[in-house]
Amino acid sequence: MTNSRRDSLICLTIAAGSTASGVYFAVHTSWLCLLGFYSAALLLWCASRLNADHQRQIAAHEQARGEAGADAPPLTPCCQFWTASKGEVHGADCTRTRRSSAA
Ligand SMILES: [Zn+2]
Repeated sequence: MTNSRRDSLICLTIAAGSTASGVYFAVHTSWLCLLGFYSAALLLWCASRLNADHQRQIAAHEQARGEAGADAPPLTPCCQFWTASKGEVHGADCTRTRRSSAA
């Protein structure tokens, strides 16, 4: 998940809250409903822009992977920590050397 995707989800959540407040004030015939609906529309626009940026990052990543060569062998797990952390962490009894784990 990219930062853009995370921010997009946050905007969507806040937009839902703004819409709910807009509906509440609309039911109670207050002009404040305009504020809720306006902020919801603004947040939805921001979410769509952030989601587009997320898609652009994913496409650039896939293109970079394609240029790097699809024939590259997949990484093989060396220990249980590697499997659980998707390659980020190695266990204390991992047989992989520090130099090879950095590559
Ligand atoms: Zn390991």
